[in-house]
Amino acid sequence: MTSSHPPLGILGMKPEEIAAVFAELGQPAFRAKQLVEWVFSRRAASFDDMTNLPKTTREALATRFVTRTMQIAKVTGSADTTRKFLLKLHDGRYVETVLIPANPALYGGKSDRRTLCVSSQVGCAYDCKFCASGLAGFTRNLTAAEIVEQIVQVEAHAGERVDNLVFMGMGEPLANYSNVTKAIEILNAEWGIGIGARHMTVSTSGLAPQIKKLADFPLQIRLAISLHGATDEVREKIMPVNRKHNLVELFEALEYWNAHRKQFLTFEFILIENINDSLDQARVLAKRARDVNAKVNLIPYNTVEGLPWARPSEARQDAFLAVLSNAGVTATLRREKGHDIAAACGQLRLKQETELGIIESPVPSRRITIGAGA
Ligand code: SF4
Repeated sequence: MTSSHPPLGILGMKPEEIAAVFAELGQPAFRAKQLVEWVFSRRAASFDDMTNLPKTTREALATRFVTRTMQIAKVTGSADTTRKFLLKLHDGRYVETVLIPANPALYGGKSDRRTLCVSSQVGCAYDCKFCASGLAGFTRNLTAAEIVEQIVQVEAHAGERVDNLVFMGMGEPLANYSNVTKAIEILNAEWGIGIGARHMTVSTSGLAPQIKKLADFPLQIRLAISLHGATDEVREKIMPVNRKHNLVELFEALEYWNAHRKQFLTFEFILIENINDSLDQARVLAKRARDVNAKVNLIPYNTVEGLPWARPSEARQDAFLAVLSNAGVTATLRREKGHDIAAACGQLRLKQETELGIIESPVPSRRITIGAGA
């Protein structure tokens, strides 16, 4: 299917919306409950499988909705390492979702938690200089169904449940606020996918107004900030969003978040040699983290041959970490490449769409592919 209108994916519908459809079809309310169970608990991939619904109802549903909107085009990695799933959307575009095996250091996850890094947009408008996802610009928002379906597709393929979600794949989740928050409600609901709100983290490049809005969202999800610079001067070099929402505005929004939330904040900080890895940056970062009670994830930049930026030496990484730790900030340093969420998203899709001629090959000097989502 190549229509530019997203098909109405049933995985993006809440029970009240499904009930309204059944009312329209002149069907009793209990039929709507049966459908919800087939869609979410039993993960039926076809209306034909929903055998306790009348055939005419199934046929009517199939003319209006689809149970799946995407296909798995490629999987890389293996069961005990990070697995990347390249998903082909109805309009021929691609997104990635990344399954990360148990890693106690991630987002309050416990050692037996499997984390999925999901995408929220095709491409991204925010143009962070270290990120593959933004290289070809923004194409479109994902629907709530497309966001939920990433989890459903991966669980079906992997044969295991995902119990930790990070909105850190392609796209800026808070720029697709309504679809992302609707997907979170479906993912969290007992009638839905059933993932605890505290095991979902939205990661943003720092859209201050939407952070405040999210602070008023009723589910107790976690928030991570892609900070990557402790001062405006440094942050602006690598994150153009900082010109629109500078650190004063961002931290005002984080104070608002803290006033409304119990969960700790997380700062993501990719260490890039001679860009943001000075001990002065570490000292300012420590103060900022203390001010809003945030923990810090340090992610050394993965050097790519022929590209201008470099990964700091381990000694320099350790010195940066020590400044944070000595200041009483909870900080982690994730060196193992395969497990870095930030190393995981965006690159596979970029390669695929470039090879297929959907997008032009990115400018080499910008191909600084740590490839993080927001
Ligand atoms: S880091 Fe996030 S916000 Fe920045 S360009 Fe990449 S996907 Fe967009």
